[in-house]
Amino acid sequence: MAEQKRDYYEILGVDKNADEAAIKKAYRVLAKKYHPDMNPGDKEAEQKFKEASEAYAILSDPEKRRQYDQFGHAAFEGGAGGAGGFGGFDFNSADFGDIFGDIFGDLFGGGRRSGRGSGPMKGANIRTSVHVTFEEAVFGTEKEIELTLKDECPTCHGSGAKPGTSAETCSKCGGKGQVVFTQQSFFGTVRNVQTCPDCGGTGKVIKDKCTDCHGSGYIANRKKIKITIPAGIDNGQSVRIRDKGEPGTNGGPRGDLLVEVMVQRHPIFQRQDYNIYSTVPISFAVAALGGEVVIDTVDGRVIYEVKAGTQTDTRVRLKGKGVPSLRNKDVRGDHYVTLVVQTPDKLTYEAKELLRKFDELTGDSLNAAKRIESGKGATETKDKKKKGFWNK
Ligand SMILES: [Zn+2]
Ligand SMILES: [Zn+2]
Repeated sequence: MAEQKRDYYEILGVDKNADEAAIKKAYRVLAKKYHPDMNPGDKEAEQKFKEASEAYAILSDPEKRRQYDQFGHAAFEGGAGGAGGFGGFDFNSADFGDIFGDIFGDLFGGGRRSGRGSGPMKGANIRTSVHVTFEEAVFGTEKEIELTLKDECPTCHGSGAKPGTSAETCSKCGGKGQVVFTQQSFFGTVRNVQTCPDCGGTGKVIKDKCTDCHGSGYIANRKKIKITIPAGIDNGQSVRIRDKGEPGTNGGPRGDLLVEVMVQRHPIFQRQDYNIYSTVPISFAVAALGGEVVIDTVDGRVIYEVKAGTQTDTRVRLKGKGVPSLRNKDVRGDHYVTLVVQTPDKLTYEAKELLRKFDELTGDSLNAAKRIESGKGATETKDKKKKGFWNK
């Protein structure tokens, strides 16, 4: 893209931490101001409207927003990018239709929505969730979920009318799905367009309902659906399965199935973005002398050489042992291990003696205390002990 794109947060005039409601509110204000219906022929307004709409489409979708926060505009360039629908931004996508329905439904009143009776319309999206283990999220997996999907009724082929009969054109609206009524007000006659109350906007009325689907045109079927969970997915992200949502109307395509992935906690590993964190205890002797420790990683156990003189809480990096990137599974994060030195607390007599000897050899606090004791007399030391001076 040759042109430098503006930051989506800047376009909407919201903070990077703005919540969903704030983003929606900001967009609503801009959409109202720049909507082409409000600014006929104004190219600049149209451009601003498009810009704001694009920003809203991304920031209102938690999954896309996360991608944008991480990769910026690059997240949506180049079309079919990542797995499971993390691809390019499509201005004409169904999501966008949802947004318009959502925002403009109440922005411009019922009129805009009610006109939908005649044309093909994409079905609504269905949301569900699936549980995966920590490792399954890291390396990807396949899951099968069962859910109830509406299908066209085979008896009436979706018409809702008893076989042999058909839906009749609504007499109230003449098949248009909308009725116009006029109202007198201070400003003169106001014409209002509303969804036809008799046919609910479909333009058709069923006299003899199909008994299998009770006139709805659909029957519910329990279905098993395979879901491919891409490697690198994180808790709360969704996988999109196209055409597994609610059926469309008037020949429109089905909506999508959005499966939110819930990742189980791991007893050892924590995850932050594409990095993994864990804590490994090491003995006092290994910390002092150096030596090998066994570290669990998502790839299995590795042996790590601890340097002599390692302090507690030292963090070491196992490069490339983290989580694969959603966009390219060959690129992996790192695994950071915090080495925690264990102070021995269950000692045999022999071990205690050895430690005392070690203490003497290294000229530590115990020795120092003894030196003071012998130099300055026992009474003073006892007083100091009472005051807790040596217990610090
Ligand atoms: Zn039927
Ligand atoms: Zn009607």
